[in-house]
Amino acid sequence: MDLSHPLVIAGPCSAETEEQVMGIAHALKDTDVNYYRAGIWKPRTRPGNFEGVGAIGLKWLQRVKEETGLKTATEVANRNHVDLALEHDIDLLWIGARSTVSPFIVQEIADALKGTDRVVMVKNPVNPDLSLWLGAVERLHTANIEKLGVIHRGFSTYEKTKYRNIPEWQLAIELQTRFPDLPLISDPSHISGRRDLIFDVSQTALDLNFDGLMIETHRDPDNAWSDAAQQVTPSRLVQIMQDLRIRKETDQEAEYNSMLNNLRAQIDVIDNQLIEILGRRMKVADSIGSLKKQRNVAVLQTNRWNAILGKMILEGEGKGLSEEFVLRMFKAIHQESINHQEKIINS
Ligand code: PEP
Ligand code: MN
Repeated sequence: MDLSHPLVIAGPCSAETEEQVMGIAHALKDTDVNYYRAGIWKPRTRPGNFEGVGAIGLKWLQRVKEETGLKTATEVANRNHVDLALEHDIDLLWIGARSTVSPFIVQEIADALKGTDRVVMVKNPVNPDLSLWLGAVERLHTANIEKLGVIHRGFSTYEKTKYRNIPEWQLAIELQTRFPDLPLISDPSHISGRRDLIFDVSQTALDLNFDGLMIETHRDPDNAWSDAAQQVTPSRLVQIMQDLRIRKETDQEAEYNSMLNNLRAQIDVIDNQLIEILGRRMKVADSIGSLKKQRNVAVLQTNRWNAILGKMILEGEGKGLSEEFVLRMFKAIHQESINHQEKIINS
């Protein structure tokens, strides 16, 4: 894979009409896009939504390849999809997030793909489970599929966040650390769920040394038949590609910068987790505050506090953190909890 430029997969969430598929493809023809994507069979969470045009769309993708030279990509979710996609010379087949969760389906797809020379990519499962994701990759590897890669599209969560699917970057980082040669593609469209976040998610992915991006692109995003809020126009896609800082491993200076960016991106991920976890701790402290209020108990309970500190100093030592640092940090956390609880008790 050419490391000086990320692999780009772009095209609509769903193939809708022949005219729509061809129109977007021609708009992407002379850009950095390598693969043209379009969903032919759409996995919908609830019935009654547009479920894809079906096999007819594969003919449109063949026409895309003939007329524009773009390679083609689509999602397959069973043996029949695989057979049809191979018959229509699709270059890249991906397994969707709702299929990766099912070892039965993944095995069926792996059997149907056995020995193919096509590129096969596995999206992460909807739930944040690294072994399920790796298990799917292993099934394909065992079926002698050599051009294998993974796509990070974020994870479902019950909590309301700004993302449609939270990135949980640390899972992608771990996968990359364990399998550095496995191409890792980011799908900022499905992570974001809204087009204004796509640039930032893409930049984080590139800073974390991802190998490429899959970005849903539509000429009339607002009227797309699926995932309208997260698609961008072809011209916006070109702008995004121009604005992204792309690592170029060409000289020492560039390599240093790229390593530094990567480490900084990892720090950013961890800092976000720190804030997230401190927020959760404070919510629990608030509940304790309410309980103490009901029972009319004092906020500060020294014995409990000394016990926590002693334990944390020991834990910290094991992680290379000085006693002085752990003490200062926990004093600050404790003070914030006391402030919260006092507010609650006096409310
Ligand atoms: C898609 O790429 O349009 C899609 C359905 O993705 P996912 O499987 O990640 O939800
Ligand atoms: Mn989609």
